[in-house]
Amino acid sequence: MSAMLGHLLERINDTGPLTVADYMSECLLHPTLGYYTTRDPLGAAGDFTTAPEISQMFGELVGLSLAQSWLDQGAPSTFVLAEAGPGRGTLMADMLRATKAVPGFHAAMQLHLVEASPVLRARQQEALAGYKVAWTKTLAELPEAPLWFVANEFFDALPVRQFLRDSNDQHDGWREKRVIAQDGELGFALGGITPVAALTHRMTDTVKGDLVEVCAPAAPLAEEIGRRIEAHGGAALIFDYGDWRSKGDTLQALKSHTKVNPLAGPGEADLTAHVDFEVLAGATPSAHSTMTPQGVFLERLGITQRAQALAGGLEGAALEDLIAAHRRLTHPEEMGTLFKVIGFCPHGHTPPPGLDI
Ligand code: SAH
Repeated sequence: MSAMLGHLLERINDTGPLTVADYMSECLLHPTLGYYTTRDPLGAAGDFTTAPEISQMFGELVGLSLAQSWLDQGAPSTFVLAEAGPGRGTLMADMLRATKAVPGFHAAMQLHLVEASPVLRARQQEALAGYKVAWTKTLAELPEAPLWFVANEFFDALPVRQFLRDSNDQHDGWREKRVIAQDGELGFALGGITPVAALTHRMTDTVKGDLVEVCAPAAPLAEEIGRRIEAHGGAALIFDYGDWRSKGDTLQALKSHTKVNPLAGPGEADLTAHVDFEVLAGATPSAHSTMTPQGVFLERLGITQRAQALAGGLEGAALEDLIAAHRRLTHPEEMGTLFKVIGFCPHGHTPPPGLDI
């Protein structure tokens, strides 16, 4: 039995079934046994790959979009450039390389990375050698200043609770899905039917048998980012897989680029859930863009021209790789439609290029 399975069984034995959110938190961020805390899970040899790991074009275009937004807001002489959940630091490294040519941008920025994993912090340190970087564990610790912010596949790692709509003679409400111990293994079970205050608005668009997910940390984080942007100026670009008002069970475990049972090998697989962009849009006190497919955003910023420019110096396998990366990032059958982006900006301003209000 793995140490993580032993720990979870003991916890369930001591305090009862875990919510899916508690299970995700334990698996991903347990201080000594957690998935993110103990490893670098990215890349071909790891469990999953992400847009910045697929191609430098992603970070370059994101960096230029944010830098243009900084120019559009009068190029404040000091600002925080922050990323949450920076993984290997690849996105930020590509953003910084691309924005070197923007006069004054690097001189005005203070780099902040929000990262929970010590292993990934070390990777970020290597990727950003030569830059002055401050690390925090939470967004709330960022200095109060104009904020240009980016996150890619950060919100999908935040824990969700799952509720199944059900009714009987007395109640019309929700059964929470929980993780229980069964003969020394983990299983799912449903609790009793109760009303759930956070789901009152979902009573009208769901029926018995529907499952909905609630990511408790998502709204407060979006609120925190948007509050700073509205108060001090700035913008945010938040990328993730998901949709507007998501419905259905989207809890997914990935190991070696293959979907696995989320309860098998706890702490050994990446666990994620789709992001509900309606929650992010509803929580921010700033203005926000429409939710836009990643492929559309990248095309508007000229990813095809950038790919053509890079292709000029390439041939053979390297050229094939570049063409494949362009397709993976933008094509509707790959990441182009499943992945979305939303932008925040102060009221009265336009969102970063690539997005519309
Ligand atoms: N953005 C990167 C990595 C995505 S993986 C990329 O696109 O390649 C998710 C990242 O979020 C990892 O860096 C992980 O350690 C971090 N993370 C997950 N939950 C977190 C939390 N609650 N607080 C801070 N960082 C977290």
